[in-house]
Amino acid sequence: MCMYCKNDTMKESTTTHVVNYKGCIIVVKNVPCEECEQCGEKFYTDETAGHLEEIVNSAKKLMQEISVIDYAKATYAA
Ligand SMILES: [Zn+2]
Repeated sequence: MCMYCKNDTMKESTTTHVVNYKGCIIVVKNVPCEECEQCGEKFYTDETAGHLEEIVNSAKKLMQEISVIDYAKATYAA
């Protein structure tokens, strides 16, 4: 159920997750998510959120000015 508008119709979607960390931009593309059909708000499952955190944490260590990571490739490489 959507925590914003309480609508319970969600559809499968993908999104781009962007983190700004100490002047570095970390971009994770093609992140699977559920999208609310009513308000368009996007949600991650717990599993996806966990993977995303691992991906972002490893990107933080690199401290590149801009890191662009493909979620699917990062997941399968881990
Ligand atoms: Zn909603």
